[in-house]
Amino acid sequence: MAKYEKVLNAIEKEKESLIALAREIHSNPETGRNEFIAVDLITNYLDRNGFKIFRGVGGLKTSFMASKGEEGYHVGFCAEYDALPEIGHGCGHNLIAIASVAAGIALASAIEGQQGRVSIIGTPDEEEHGGKVDMVRLGVFDDIDAAMMFHPDCATRIHIESLACRDYKFIFHGKNAHASSEPWEGRNALDAVIQTFNNINALRQHLKDNTRIHGIITEGGVAVNVIPDRAAADFLIRASNSSYLKEVVEKVINCARSAAIATGTDLEVIESDYPYEAMNSNKVLGDSFSVSLDEAGYNVESTHDVGIGSIDMGNVSRVTPSIYPVLALTGDWIPRHTFEFASLCNTEQAYEVMLAAGKAMAITGQKVINDPELQGQIKKEFDNQNSLQKN
Ligand SMILES: [Zn+2]
Ligand SMILES: [Zn+2]
Repeated sequence: MAKYEKVLNAIEKEKESLIALAREIHSNPETGRNEFIAVDLITNYLDRNGFKIFRGVGGLKTSFMASKGEEGYHVGFCAEYDALPEIGHGCGHNLIAIASVAAGIALASAIEGQQGRVSIIGTPDEEEHGGKVDMVRLGVFDDIDAAMMFHPDCATRIHIESLACRDYKFIFHGKNAHASSEPWEGRNALDAVIQTFNNINALRQHLKDNTRIHGIITEGGVAVNVIPDRAAADFLIRASNSSYLKEVVEKVINCARSAAIATGTDLEVIESDYPYEAMNSNKVLGDSFSVSLDEAGYNVESTHDVGIGSIDMGNVSRVTPSIYPVLALTGDWIPRHTFEFASLCNTEQAYEVMLAAGKAMAITGQKVINDPELQGQIKKEFDNQNSLQKN
């Protein structure tokens, strides 16, 4: 344990300030790309702690990179801080942000005077249009040798999986007509949307496990006595890996195309610019984190299991070895994205887990920076995962 004294002491010494920061972010929830209060709080704190601050990395108003240390192996901790509309911090990103801040200051203190670098990377808007997608695209992570973050939950899992996800809008263009006196003159765009849903429902039986297709109707006409000349639906399409997802996307678009043919309407397909990749959890880095978690004193018992979603950390995991452990805040079943979970994320118990996660990430960082062999194993695992994905 003495080996990690510097990490543990650094966080214990700053405990009250770190919890105060997390509380402040919790009580000022800001949605994606508007997280100005959170970014000010965090960057001011890190500036006072001797970090060099670069705001707006990756072209986003509420992103930042805060770095400390000399040349050498570069460990990055990702800080998310966006909240949900209405619900506030129902995903616990206040805890994610400050666990990464804690990890950053602790690792910086542990490696002071030696080779190695540490950065806290502020990544906005996880909930809607993943900020990490933009940041990966613009090379923000190219210089990072290993990236870590934790996510609070009511289950614990170190090596998580996530689904690759694409976001589509289908707009059908038809023709207005009086719905009673001359319906034969019209082309019903709403019928095309409804037929698209029916076609997709017929497709579901033939899809591999863990494939998800879910949509909503966003436009469905303006008056009951007018045949709608325009209707639209948004869909999220998800699968275990990007290559199978590509096949599924093609089938789903065919569902919309055939609905357009059946109804005599024209289809417009809009793909969002925010594809989420499936997470490649780096097993070597994750195993090291697992041991560090015990060393950090994390001890919440949970028998629950977590479901599978999509995360923008998946995109980071394609360019640098990454982990995204989820840690239970409690043994009780309190699902995320609820008011109950938001309340839980502002309790002593939650802040204890946040600090334990920060300690465990910093200890892991210290182990990796001091062990070239471990660095090699992490890189090898990353290269293997990437070559498997390409096949
Ligand atoms: Zn969430
Ligand atoms: Zn979240």
